[in-house]
Amino acid sequence: MKDFQITQTMDVWRPKSGTPAVLVRWLMTEWCNYRCPYCPQTHDRRAPKDGGMTAHAFDNFPLERWLDAFDRHFNNSRLSLVLTGGEPMVDRKNMLAFLNHMSSKARVECIRIDTNAWWKPEQFADLDTSKIILMCTFHPSQIDEELFIQRIESFLRAGFKIGMINYVMNVSNIQTFKERSKRFADLGVILHPNPLWGQGGSYAPADLALMRAVLPEHDYNLRSGRENPKGKLCNFPAIAYEMNYTGWIAPGCLYDRSGSFFAESLPAASADAAPCPFESCVCLDKYSFMVGTDRNVSTNPLHEYSKALWKQREELSRADLQTSRA
Ligand code: SF4
Ligand code: SF4
Repeated sequence: MKDFQITQTMDVWRPKSGTPAVLVRWLMTEWCNYRCPYCPQTHDRRAPKDGGMTAHAFDNFPLERWLDAFDRHFNNSRLSLVLTGGEPMVDRKNMLAFLNHMSSKARVECIRIDTNAWWKPEQFADLDTSKIILMCTFHPSQIDEELFIQRIESFLRAGFKIGMINYVMNVSNIQTFKERSKRFADLGVILHPNPLWGQGGSYAPADLALMRAVLPEHDYNLRSGRENPKGKLCNFPAIAYEMNYTGWIAPGCLYDRSGSFFAESLPAASADAAPCPFESCVCLDKYSFMVGTDRNVSTNPLHEYSKALWKQREELSRADLQTSRA
């Protein structure tokens, strides 16, 4: 079974015959309309960055240059994009044009957008949503919960796919996770716990207990720091690129190989799975490429994670039912 899974994962991203797929994880902006107290980013659109740059990709280089570089570098690859920030959707004009351009390309198979869900679908009425999947995060310090839920409902009505809701929890709302989980499940959306780190850089026991219950085991172990990935083989350096709003780009986790997105060619990715150079990995779209995890059997990793969360939630419900019957 395991061998079959491994073959399947690499068949998708590195088929023996056919076009390889690349995942580009793009921190496209630090510009954000929210000011979450736990956020380390600079938030302001024009925040000065090294080399005379700012915090926003489309201010540093015009949209056309980004599109040209995407078309040039990935002309012979299938693409799965992860767009994160900041709040990517805050630049309505450029995002609409960027997303529609990318969606129109047959080789672009998936566009995941990490968003705080502040925007209204009507503001993107001309958007082609067919390849888009949203990861929406609820930030309790920035938006009323009912309003957030209404936004999620409006996204679903407008035809957006939502991979999951990241539910930022503090001590005041951890108790509501279970109840909210059911409410979102009724909408067909899975809720994902996102507890805040404590001051000592660790989770509170109640957070850990919840995470242990609702996350698949491997995810729980990595998220909680129980598993140290260093030295373990991972396909992320062979399959992915990480980029930021200045055009700095590196093959996944191989930061000593960095280059510019606007150069003639990109820095070489690892030829094969590489040993992990870090002691911690908490990003699902990254560690899901670890050899042995083998979850990413499509070019839509968030959808694969969402399926794993639903499966875990069903098992939890069955266990709850058996306990209540006993
Ligand atoms: S929504 Fe995200 S990027 Fe914006 S302030 Fe909050 S944590 Fe930071
Ligand atoms: S386990 Fe995480 S940090 Fe390590 S190489 Fe893979 S993606 Fe990078």
